[in-house]
Amino acid sequence: MSTNRKIPPHMAVVLLLFVACRQQVPTAADGEAKMKANEMAQKYIIVDTHQDVPYRLKKRMEDISGRTEHGNFDYPRARQGGLDAVFMAVYVPPDYEQEGGAYAFANETIDMIEGFARTWPDKFVMARSAADMRRQSGAGTISLAMGIENGAAIEGNLVNLKYFYDRGVRYITLVHSKNNHICDSSFDDGPKWNGLSPFGVQVVSEMNRLGMIVDVSHVSDKAFYRIIEVSKAPVVATHSACRHFTPGCERNVDDRMIRLLAKKGGVIQINFGSMFVNGQVNKEFVERSKRIKEYVEAHHLKGEAKDKYVGEYAKQHPYSEADISDVVANIDHVVQLVGIDYVGLGSDFDGVGDSLPNGLKDVSCYPNLIAELLKRGYAEQDIGKICSDNFLRVWSQVERKALELQSGK
Ligand SMILES: [Zn+2]
Repeated sequence: MSTNRKIPPHMAVVLLLFVACRQQVPTAADGEAKMKANEMAQKYIIVDTHQDVPYRLKKRMEDISGRTEHGNFDYPRARQGGLDAVFMAVYVPPDYEQEGGAYAFANETIDMIEGFARTWPDKFVMARSAADMRRQSGAGTISLAMGIENGAAIEGNLVNLKYFYDRGVRYITLVHSKNNHICDSSFDDGPKWNGLSPFGVQVVSEMNRLGMIVDVSHVSDKAFYRIIEVSKAPVVATHSACRHFTPGCERNVDDRMIRLLAKKGGVIQINFGSMFVNGQVNKEFVERSKRIKEYVEAHHLKGEAKDKYVGEYAKQHPYSEADISDVVANIDHVVQLVGIDYVGLGSDFDGVGDSLPNGLKDVSCYPNLIAELLKRGYAEQDIGKICSDNFLRVWSQVERKALELQSGK
Protein backbone atom coordinates (compact mmCIF):
# COMPACT_ATOMS: atom_id res chain seq x y z
CA MET A 1 0.00 0.00 0.00
CA SER A 2 1.41 3.39 -1.00
CA THR A 3 1.71 5.82 1.85
CA ASN A 4 -0.18 8.69 0.23
CA ARG A 5 -3.38 6.72 -0.33
CA LYS A 6 -6.13 7.55 2.14
CA ILE A 7 -7.23 4.69 4.43
CA PRO A 8 -11.05 4.30 4.60
CA PRO A 9 -12.35 4.73 8.19
CA HIS A 10 -13.46 1.08 8.59
CA MET A 11 -10.02 -0.08 7.47
CA ALA A 12 -8.41 2.26 9.97
CA VAL A 13 -10.38 0.53 12.73
CA VAL A 14 -9.27 -2.87 11.45
CA LEU A 15 -5.69 -1.64 11.30
CA LEU A 16 -5.88 -0.24 14.82
CA LEU A 17 -7.29 -3.52 16.11
CA PHE A 18 -4.53 -5.37 14.31
CA VAL A 19 -1.86 -3.18 15.92
CA ALA A 20 -3.50 -3.58 19.35
CA CYS A 21 -3.71 -7.36 19.03
CA ARG A 22 -0.42 -7.81 17.22
CA GLN A 23 1.22 -9.60 20.11
CA GLN A 24 -1.55 -12.21 20.24
CA VAL A 25 -1.41 -13.07 16.52
CA PRO A 26 0.75 -16.19 16.24
CA THR A 27 3.56 -16.01 13.72
CA ALA A 28 5.14 -18.87 11.81
CA ALA A 29 8.08 -18.71 14.24
CA ASP A 30 5.62 -19.05 17.16
CA GLY A 31 4.08 -22.14 15.57
CA GLU A 32 7.49 -23.69 15.05
CA ALA A 33 8.59 -22.94 18.61
CA LYS A 34 5.35 -24.42 19.94
CA MET A 35 5.82 -27.64 17.98
CA LYS A 36 9.43 -27.99 19.06
CA ALA A 37 8.44 -27.15 22.66
CA ASN A 38 5.80 -29.89 22.70
CA GLU A 39 8.40 -32.40 21.53
CA MET A 40 10.92 -31.19 24.08
CA ALA A 41 8.43 -31.30 26.95
CA GLN A 42 7.95 -35.01 26.25
CA LYS A 43 11.63 -35.71 25.61
CA TYR A 44 13.23 -33.87 28.52
CA ILE A 45 12.57 -34.62 32.18
CA ILE A 46 10.40 -31.95 33.77
CA VAL A 47 10.52 -31.76 37.57
CA ASP A 48 8.31 -29.27 39.39
CA THR A 49 9.46 -28.84 42.98
CA HIS A 50 6.31 -27.45 44.56
CA GLN A 51 2.62 -28.08 44.04
CA ASP A 52 -0.14 -27.87 46.64
CA VAL A 53 -2.31 -30.65 45.25
CA PRO A 54 -2.87 -32.44 48.62
CA TYR A 55 -4.11 -29.31 50.42
CA ARG A 56 -6.35 -28.45 47.49
CA LEU A 57 -7.85 -31.97 47.68
CA LYS A 58 -8.27 -31.71 51.44
CA LYS A 59 -10.49 -28.71 50.77
CA ARG A 60 -12.32 -30.27 47.81
CA MET A 61 -11.69 -33.92 46.92
CA GLU A 62 -11.45 -34.82 43.23
CA ASP A 63 -10.19 -37.86 41.33
CA ILE A 64 -6.83 -36.66 39.97
CA SER A 65 -6.35 -39.83 37.90
CA GLY A 66 -8.77 -38.27 35.39
CA ARG A 67 -9.47 -34.75 34.19
CA THR A 68 -10.67 -32.72 37.17
CA GLU A 69 -13.04 -29.79 36.98
CA HIS A 70 -11.06 -27.67 39.45
CA GLY A 71 -7.43 -27.12 40.29
CA ASN A 72 -4.22 -26.96 38.29
CA PHE A 73 -3.09 -30.59 38.46
CA ASP A 74 -4.41 -33.94 37.33
CA TYR A 75 -2.87 -36.92 35.54
CA PRO A 76 -4.13 -36.23 31.97
CA ARG A 77 -3.04 -32.60 32.04
CA ALA A 78 0.32 -33.50 33.61
CA ARG A 79 0.98 -36.00 30.81
CA GLN A 80 -0.08 -33.50 28.18
CA GLY A 81 2.36 -30.97 29.63
CA GLY A 82 5.22 -33.49 29.75
CA LEU A 83 5.52 -33.36 33.54
CA ASP A 84 7.60 -36.28 34.82
CA ALA A 85 7.94 -35.61 38.52
CA VAL A 86 6.47 -33.34 41.13
CA PHE A 87 7.07 -32.58 44.77
CA MET A 88 3.71 -32.70 46.47
CA ALA A 89 3.68 -30.21 49.32
CA VAL A 90 2.84 -31.66 52.71
CA TYR A 91 1.54 -28.28 53.77
CA VAL A 92 0.87 -27.65 57.46
CA PRO A 93 -1.18 -24.49 58.15
CA PRO A 94 0.65 -22.21 60.62
CA ASP A 95 -2.15 -22.35 63.24
CA TYR A 96 -1.08 -25.90 64.11
CA GLU A 97 2.15 -24.54 65.59
CA GLN A 98 0.22 -22.95 68.47
CA GLU A 99 -2.69 -25.34 68.70
CA GLY A 100 -0.83 -28.63 68.30
CA GLY A 101 -1.54 -31.43 65.85
CA ALA A 102 1.00 -30.42 63.17
CA TYR A 103 2.74 -33.82 63.22
CA ALA A 104 -0.56 -35.69 62.87
CA PHE A 105 -1.76 -33.36 60.11
CA ALA A 106 1.46 -33.91 58.11
CA ASN A 107 1.06 -37.67 58.52
CA GLU A 108 -2.50 -37.57 57.17
CA THR A 109 -1.25 -35.68 54.12
CA ILE A 110 1.56 -38.19 53.54
CA ASP A 111 -1.04 -40.99 53.75
CA MET A 112 -3.05 -39.17 51.08
CA ILE A 113 -0.06 -38.82 48.71
CA GLU A 114 0.94 -42.46 49.17
CA GLY A 115 -2.70 -43.29 48.46
CA PHE A 116 -2.39 -41.76 44.96
CA ALA A 117 0.41 -44.17 44.09
CA ARG A 118 -1.35 -47.14 45.72
CA THR A 119 -4.70 -46.45 44.06
CA TRP A 120 -3.39 -45.64 40.59
CA PRO A 121 -0.02 -47.47 40.24
CA ASP A 122 -0.15 -47.13 36.45
CA LYS A 123 -0.28 -43.34 36.81
CA PHE A 124 1.62 -42.33 39.95
CA VAL A 125 4.75 -43.74 41.55
CA MET A 126 6.60 -42.54 44.64
CA ALA A 127 10.16 -41.16 44.29
CA ARG A 128 12.63 -41.02 47.18
CA SER A 129 15.80 -40.02 45.35
CA ALA A 130 17.07 -38.05 42.38
CA ALA A 131 17.93 -41.43 40.80
CA ASP A 132 14.31 -42.61 41.26
CA MET A 133 13.10 -39.55 39.37
CA ARG A 134 15.52 -40.11 36.51
CA ARG A 135 14.83 -43.83 36.28
CA GLN A 136 11.05 -43.50 36.46
CA SER A 137 10.79 -40.76 33.85
CA GLY A 138 9.50 -41.53 30.38
CA ALA A 139 7.46 -44.59 31.45
CA GLY A 140 4.12 -42.80 31.43
CA THR A 141 3.86 -42.48 35.20
CA ILE A 142 4.27 -39.28 37.20
CA SER A 143 6.82 -39.54 40.02
CA LEU A 144 5.59 -38.14 43.32
CA ALA A 145 8.09 -36.88 45.87
CA MET A 146 7.22 -35.19 49.15
CA GLY A 147 8.31 -31.96 50.81
CA ILE A 148 6.90 -30.79 54.12
CA GLU A 149 5.88 -27.13 53.93
CA ASN A 150 6.24 -25.81 57.47
CA GLY A 151 8.69 -27.42 59.91
CA ALA A 152 6.01 -27.07 62.61
CA ALA A 153 5.37 -30.74 61.78
CA ILE A 154 8.59 -31.73 63.59
CA GLU A 155 7.11 -30.52 66.89
CA GLY A 156 10.48 -29.83 68.46
CA ASN A 157 11.79 -33.38 68.24
CA LEU A 158 14.62 -34.50 65.95
CA VAL A 159 13.31 -38.07 66.18
CA ASN A 160 10.30 -36.86 64.17
CA LEU A 161 12.64 -35.49 61.50
CA LYS A 162 14.17 -38.94 61.02
CA TYR A 163 10.67 -40.44 61.04
CA PHE A 164 9.55 -38.13 58.21
CA TYR A 165 12.71 -38.94 56.27
CA ASP A 166 11.88 -42.63 56.63
CA ARG A 167 8.38 -41.92 55.33
CA GLY A 168 9.97 -40.47 52.19
CA VAL A 169 9.95 -36.73 52.84
CA ARG A 170 12.92 -35.24 51.01
CA TYR A 171 12.71 -31.54 51.72
CA ILE A 172 11.35 -29.32 54.44
CA THR A 173 10.32 -25.73 53.94
CA LEU A 174 11.38 -24.69 57.43
CA VAL A 175 8.56 -22.21 57.96
CA HIS A 176 5.40 -20.90 56.31
CA SER A 177 3.66 -17.56 56.81
CA LYS A 178 4.18 -17.31 60.59
CA ASN A 179 7.33 -17.72 62.69
CA ASN A 180 7.59 -21.19 64.20
CA HIS A 181 9.88 -22.93 66.68
CA ILE A 182 12.53 -23.44 64.00
CA CYS A 183 12.71 -20.30 61.97
CA ASP A 184 11.39 -16.78 61.24
CA SER A 185 8.99 -16.24 58.36
CA SER A 186 9.24 -13.61 55.61
CA PHE A 187 5.50 -12.97 56.00
CA ASP A 188 5.29 -12.48 59.78
CA ASP A 189 5.15 -9.05 61.46
CA GLY A 190 8.60 -9.27 63.01
CA PRO A 191 11.35 -11.70 63.98
CA LYS A 192 11.13 -14.13 66.88
CA TRP A 193 14.61 -15.60 66.56
CA ASN A 194 16.45 -13.12 64.36
CA GLY A 195 16.74 -15.96 61.86
CA LEU A 196 17.00 -19.56 63.06
CA SER A 197 16.19 -20.72 66.60
CA PRO A 198 18.84 -22.80 68.43
CA PHE A 199 16.67 -25.85 67.65
CA GLY A 200 16.48 -24.69 64.01
CA VAL A 201 20.28 -24.88 63.81
CA GLN A 202 20.08 -28.50 64.99
CA VAL A 203 17.32 -29.19 62.45
CA VAL A 204 19.46 -27.94 59.56
CA SER A 205 22.44 -30.06 60.69
CA GLU A 206 20.28 -33.17 61.10
CA MET A 207 18.68 -32.57 57.67
CA ASN A 208 22.19 -32.42 56.18
CA ARG A 209 23.06 -35.70 57.88
CA LEU A 210 19.87 -37.44 56.77
CA GLY A 211 20.02 -36.15 53.19
CA MET A 212 16.97 -33.90 53.32
CA ILE A 213 17.03 -30.71 51.26
CA VAL A 214 16.73 -27.49 53.27
CA ASP A 215 14.13 -25.32 51.52
CA VAL A 216 14.65 -21.58 52.01
CA SER A 217 11.36 -20.47 50.43
CA HIS A 218 9.23 -18.53 52.96
CA VAL A 219 12.11 -17.89 55.41
CA SER A 220 13.06 -14.36 56.53
CA ASP A 221 16.23 -12.77 55.15
CA LYS A 222 18.11 -13.25 58.41
CA ALA A 223 17.05 -16.90 58.52
CA PHE A 224 18.29 -17.30 54.95
CA TYR A 225 21.75 -15.96 55.77
CA ARG A 226 21.95 -18.11 58.90
CA ILE A 227 20.94 -21.23 56.92
CA ILE A 228 23.62 -20.48 54.33
CA GLU A 229 26.14 -20.29 57.20
CA VAL A 230 24.97 -23.43 59.00
CA SER A 231 24.14 -25.84 56.15
CA LYS A 232 26.91 -28.14 55.01
CA ALA A 233 24.99 -29.02 51.84
CA PRO A 234 23.60 -26.83 49.04
CA VAL A 235 20.12 -25.44 49.76
CA VAL A 236 17.13 -24.88 47.47
CA ALA A 237 14.40 -22.26 47.19
CA THR A 238 11.71 -24.69 45.99
CA HIS A 239 9.15 -22.05 44.97
CA SER A 240 10.43 -18.46 45.05
CA ALA A 241 10.83 -15.70 42.49
CA CYS A 242 13.21 -12.73 42.21
CA ARG A 243 12.76 -9.71 44.47
CA HIS A 244 14.28 -7.66 41.65
CA PHE A 245 10.77 -7.53 40.11
CA THR A 246 8.88 -7.08 43.40
CA PRO A 247 10.89 -4.61 45.50
CA GLY A 248 10.30 -5.02 49.23
CA CYS A 249 8.76 -8.49 48.92
CA GLU A 250 10.81 -10.53 51.40
CA ARG A 251 9.05 -13.73 50.22
CA ASN A 252 11.17 -13.46 47.04
CA VAL A 253 14.96 -13.69 47.02
CA ASP A 254 17.10 -10.67 46.23
CA ASP A 255 20.21 -10.57 44.05
CA ARG A 256 22.66 -11.00 46.92
CA MET A 257 20.77 -14.07 48.11
CA ILE A 258 20.69 -15.55 44.59
CA ARG A 259 24.47 -15.13 44.37
CA LEU A 260 24.98 -16.81 47.76
CA LEU A 261 22.59 -19.63 46.88
CA ALA A 262 24.51 -20.28 43.67
CA LYS A 263 27.90 -20.02 45.38
CA LYS A 264 26.76 -22.75 47.75
CA GLY A 265 25.79 -24.88 44.73
CA GLY A 266 22.02 -24.53 45.33
CA VAL A 267 19.19 -23.62 42.99
CA ILE A 268 16.22 -21.26 42.85
CA GLN A 269 13.05 -22.84 41.49
CA ILE A 270 10.88 -20.06 40.05
CA ASN A 271 7.34 -19.69 41.43
CA PHE A 272 4.74 -18.96 38.71
CA GLY A 273 2.31 -16.95 40.89
CA SER A 274 1.47 -13.60 39.24
CA MET A 275 1.91 -11.87 42.59
CA PHE A 276 5.49 -13.14 42.86
CA VAL A 277 6.72 -12.60 39.30
CA ASN A 278 5.16 -9.22 38.52
CA GLY A 279 5.61 -5.99 40.49
CA GLN A 280 2.13 -4.57 39.84
CA VAL A 281 0.33 -7.77 40.87
CA ASN A 282 2.59 -7.97 43.91
CA LYS A 283 1.27 -4.56 45.02
CA GLU A 284 -2.31 -5.87 44.67
CA PHE A 285 -1.28 -8.95 46.66
CA VAL A 286 0.15 -6.86 49.51
CA GLU A 287 -3.05 -4.80 49.62
CA ARG A 288 -5.31 -7.89 49.52
CA SER A 289 -3.26 -9.67 52.23
CA LYS A 290 -3.51 -6.61 54.48
CA ARG A 291 -7.31 -6.39 54.10
CA ILE A 292 -7.77 -10.13 54.68
CA LYS A 293 -5.50 -10.13 57.74
CA GLU A 294 -7.42 -7.25 59.32
CA TYR A 295 -10.75 -9.01 58.82
CA VAL A 296 -9.53 -12.46 59.90
CA GLU A 297 -8.02 -11.04 63.09
CA ALA A 298 -11.03 -8.86 63.91
CA HIS A 299 -13.40 -11.84 63.48
CA HIS A 300 -11.07 -14.51 64.92
CA LEU A 301 -11.46 -16.69 61.82
CA LYS A 302 -9.57 -19.97 61.67
CA GLY A 303 -9.36 -23.16 59.64
CA GLU A 304 -12.22 -23.73 57.22
CA ALA A 305 -13.98 -20.47 58.08
CA LYS A 306 -10.77 -18.57 57.27
CA ASP A 307 -10.22 -20.48 54.00
CA LYS A 308 -13.83 -19.78 53.01
CA TYR A 309 -13.52 -16.06 53.69
CA VAL A 310 -10.22 -15.83 51.81
CA GLY A 311 -11.77 -17.70 48.85
CA GLU A 312 -14.76 -15.37 48.71
CA TYR A 313 -12.64 -12.26 49.08
CA ALA A 314 -10.40 -13.47 46.27
CA LYS A 315 -13.41 -14.01 43.99
CA GLN A 316 -14.60 -10.46 44.60
CA HIS A 317 -11.15 -8.92 44.21
CA PRO A 318 -9.38 -10.81 41.42
CA TYR A 319 -5.73 -10.07 40.74
CA SER A 320 -4.47 -8.67 37.49
CA GLU A 321 -2.87 -11.37 35.43
CA ALA A 322 0.86 -11.58 34.86
CA ASP A 323 2.11 -13.10 31.61
CA ILE A 324 4.24 -16.14 30.92
CA SER A 325 6.92 -13.64 29.83
CA ASP A 326 7.11 -12.44 33.46
CA VAL A 327 8.08 -15.96 34.56
CA VAL A 328 10.70 -16.13 31.81
CA ALA A 329 11.98 -12.69 32.87
CA ASN A 330 12.57 -14.14 36.36
CA ILE A 331 14.46 -17.08 34.87
CA ASP A 332 16.47 -14.66 32.70
CA HIS A 333 17.32 -12.58 35.73
CA VAL A 334 18.85 -15.52 37.59
CA VAL A 335 20.74 -16.60 34.46
CA GLN A 336 22.14 -13.10 33.99
CA LEU A 337 23.22 -12.92 37.64
CA VAL A 338 24.78 -16.35 38.18
CA GLY A 339 24.53 -18.38 34.97
CA ILE A 340 22.33 -21.17 33.67
CA ASP A 341 23.08 -23.78 36.37
CA TYR A 342 21.11 -22.35 39.27
CA VAL A 343 17.49 -21.99 38.16
CA GLY A 344 14.52 -24.31 37.76
CA LEU A 345 10.73 -24.64 38.09
CA GLY A 346 8.67 -24.59 41.29
CA SER A 347 5.26 -23.54 39.97
CA ASP A 348 3.24 -23.49 43.21
CA PHE A 349 0.31 -24.86 41.17
CA ASP A 350 -2.76 -25.32 43.38
CA GLY A 351 -1.09 -23.02 45.90
CA VAL A 352 -1.52 -19.53 44.46
CA GLY A 353 -5.27 -19.58 43.89
CA ASP A 354 -6.43 -17.31 41.11
CA SER A 355 -3.00 -15.82 40.52
CA LEU A 356 -1.51 -17.76 37.62
CA PRO A 357 -0.11 -15.97 34.58
CA ASN A 358 -1.63 -15.94 31.14
CA GLY A 359 -0.30 -19.04 29.36
CA LEU A 360 0.65 -20.91 32.55
CA LYS A 361 -2.66 -21.87 34.10
CA ASP A 362 -2.01 -25.52 34.85
CA VAL A 363 0.33 -28.51 34.43
CA SER A 364 -0.49 -28.82 30.73
CA CYS A 365 1.33 -25.53 30.09
CA TYR A 366 5.04 -26.40 30.48
CA PRO A 367 5.39 -26.51 26.65
CA ASN A 368 4.30 -22.83 26.54
CA LEU A 369 7.15 -21.99 28.89
CA ILE A 370 9.63 -23.99 26.82
CA ALA A 371 8.39 -22.25 23.64
CA GLU A 372 8.96 -18.89 25.30
CA LEU A 373 12.51 -19.90 26.28
CA LEU A 374 13.19 -21.09 22.72
CA LYS A 375 11.96 -17.76 21.36
CA ARG A 376 14.37 -16.00 23.70
CA GLY A 377 17.23 -18.01 22.24
CA TYR A 378 17.82 -20.55 24.99
CA ALA A 379 19.68 -23.64 23.76
CA GLU A 380 17.95 -27.02 24.12
CA GLN A 381 20.50 -28.26 26.62
CA ASP A 382 20.03 -25.17 28.78
CA ILE A 383 16.26 -25.65 28.76
CA GLY A 384 16.92 -29.21 29.96
CA LYS A 385 18.88 -27.74 32.87
CA ILE A 386 15.98 -25.48 33.80
CA CYS A 387 13.39 -28.26 33.46
CA SER A 388 15.16 -30.66 35.83
CA ASP A 389 18.92 -31.13 35.49
CA ASN A 390 19.85 -28.27 37.82
CA PHE A 391 17.54 -29.39 40.59
CA LEU A 392 18.41 -33.08 40.27
CA ARG A 393 22.12 -32.19 40.40
CA VAL A 394 21.58 -30.32 43.67
CA TRP A 395 19.47 -33.12 45.14
CA SER A 396 22.22 -35.65 44.29
CA GLN A 397 24.77 -33.39 45.99
CA VAL A 398 22.62 -33.28 49.13
CA GLU A 399 22.42 -37.09 49.05
CA ARG A 400 26.19 -37.43 48.62
CA LYS A 401 26.90 -34.97 51.43
CA ALA A 402 24.66 -37.02 53.74
CA LEU A 403 26.62 -40.20 52.99
CA GLU A 404 29.83 -38.33 53.69
CA LEU A 405 28.50 -36.99 57.01
CA GLN A 406 27.15 -40.38 58.02
CA SER A 407 30.49 -42.02 57.38
CA GLY A 408 32.13 -39.39 59.57
CA LYS A 409 34.22 -37.69 56.87
ZN1 LIG B 1 4.52 -21.88 49.80
